[in-house]
Formats: sequence, C-alpha cells, structure tokens
Amino acid sequence: MKEIVVISGKGGTGKTSIVASFAVLAKNTVLADCDVDAADLHLVLEPRIVRRNQFSGGSQARIMPGHCTACGKCEEVCRFDAIFYDGPGNGRVAKTYRVDPIACEGCGVCAYFCAENAIEFAPVVNGEWFVSDTRCGPMVHARLGVAQENSGKLVSIVRTEAKKLAEQRNLDLVIIDGSPGIGCPVIASISGADLVLVVTEPTLSGLHDLGRVADLTKHFGIETLVCVNKWDLNKDISLEIERLASRKGLSMAGNVRYDRAVTEAQIAKKSVVEYRENGVATDIKELWTGVVLLMNENTR
Ligand code: SF4
Ligand code: SF4
Repeated sequence: MKEIVVISGKGGTGKTSIVASFAVLAKNTVLADCDVDAADLHLVLEPRIVRRNQFSGGSQARIMPGHCTACGKCEEVCRFDAIFYDGPGNGRVAKTYRVDPIACEGCGVCAYFCAENAIEFAPVVNGEWFVSDTRCGPMVHARLGVAQENSGKLVSIVRTEAKKLAEQRNLDLVIIDGSPGIGCPVIASISGADLVLVVTEPTLSGLHDLGRVADLTKHFGIETLVCVNKWDLNKDISLEIERLASRKGLSMAGNVRYDRAVTEAQIAKKSVVEYRENGVATDIKELWTGVVLLMNENTR
C-alpha cells in the first residue's frame, strides 16, 4: 500500500481541488483529509459518515469554586496568565479563582501546586474524526474545534485510520490532502509517506514557500514532485519555480492552467474532472498520470 500526500506552502493554492480530482481518477484508494484546521474536501466529495469518534488534544484545568480558598498560588505559578481572581464566592471566601479555558495551555502546573485539590485537570474533547463513504471510496476526515490546538496529533490519527482502512479493504493507495505550511501538522502529514506532491502558485510567496517545503521534504527523505497551479497567470514566476525545483532536486509533475471551471465545479460540488472534459481537466489528468508514473518508478 502506498501513500501520496498533496501539500502546499500555504492555504488557498487549489490543493484540495486537485486532490478531489485525483480521488475521482484513482482506483482502489482511501482518502484522508489531513488539512484538519481548514478541512474542505468534504464539500466536494459529500461524505456519508459511517463512524464518528471524539478527539482529545490534551487536558485543561478547571477550578472547583466550592473547594477554592482563594490562596492565589495557582495564579502565581501559571506562566500563561490563564487564571483570574473573579470566580464565584463560597461559604469561606467572597471570590475564588477561575481558569480562562482559551488561555489555558494545559500544562497542569496549577493542579500540581493547589494544596486544596481544588483544580480538576482532565482531558477535553476538542474535535471529532470520521470514517465515511464517498462516491470515490472510503474517506477519513476530521473537524477540530475553533481555537483548538494539537492538530498534529489529530492528523496522525486520520492518517493511521486511513492506512488501517486500506489494509482492511485491500485497497492499495491512500491519497492524503495534507496540511499547509511547514509546522507540526504538515510534518505529521508527510513523515513516512511514499511521495509528496507540492502544489504551488506563480507568486513570489509561492516561490518562497516552495523553497521552505522542499527543505522540509528533503529533511524527511521523501521523493517530492512539484505542480504550479494557475501557472499561466504569471509565466515568468512559473519558470522561476521550475528552476528552483530543479536546483532543489525536485521533479516537475506537470502544471495546471487557470480556469474558471474550477470555481464552477466547486459550486456544483463536483471535482473539476467530473465537471469538464477538457481544458483544466486535461491538465489534471496529465498531472495524475505523471504522479502515478513516478510513484511506480520509485517503488519498482
Ligand atoms: S491554588 Fe487552589 S485553593 Fe489556591 S486559589 Fe488556586 S484553586 Fe484556589
Ligand atoms: S494548566 Fe497550566 S496553563 Fe492552564 S491554568 Fe493551569 S498553570 Fe495555567
């Protein structure tokens, strides 16, 4: 079983549109949406959820007002300024201390130092992950709560479950819509994968981001291909991107032209290759052929 991860230096490069088309073109595949901070593959593939699971990214402190003597120790030791002296009173004190759940980083120090055992420190549910059926095959995806962290842990769960599903159903490919950027979630998306496709755009920031992403995939020793999406919007920068890819030892997998059909397809909740026969759809089909060829060459 092989894993292909599609990533980009930042959001909004058209990565998910390309993944949705790959999902239609591929056979025997499991899809994994690891862009858990801004998951949107489901908007095109309209998954039917068959299993949902809660996700806990960590623990959080909560002061129990009935036990608090307002000694102030917890506020003193909290390095994240997450504790305030404005909690409700009890029979002994007029006010108690309170934890701001948004500011709490879940380090647990306050609970350790509270002599009254007045601080509960328990796992919090801050997301969900799902196993679904789509018209292109099974899909594992997730939703992280607003302002919640530890998306790298959630990405790892989505990837692991997608691989398990592929093994159970005897499917030989997992296509991953990876997280953008170069932080923890994207590292969790690509580590150990067979192939990475970087989707970039012909802008100066696209050029800069490609350099950073290339260094990251090189660090992990993963074969990496590049695609310039909407390449014809700035042919000079597209050429610069190709030169940079060559200097970094990356192969160009193919470019995709700008076409309003991409947006029209999204509105119609279809992938571009389902919406159009030619034009941009031809580019994506050729891109997919290139990706498959290189993957087969590398694993021969
Ligand atoms: S350390 Fe415990 S008892 Fe003291 S203020 Fe904080 S919660 Fe209340
Ligand atoms: S768990 Fe850590 S961050 Fe949260 S309130 Fe306690 S000391 Fe502050």
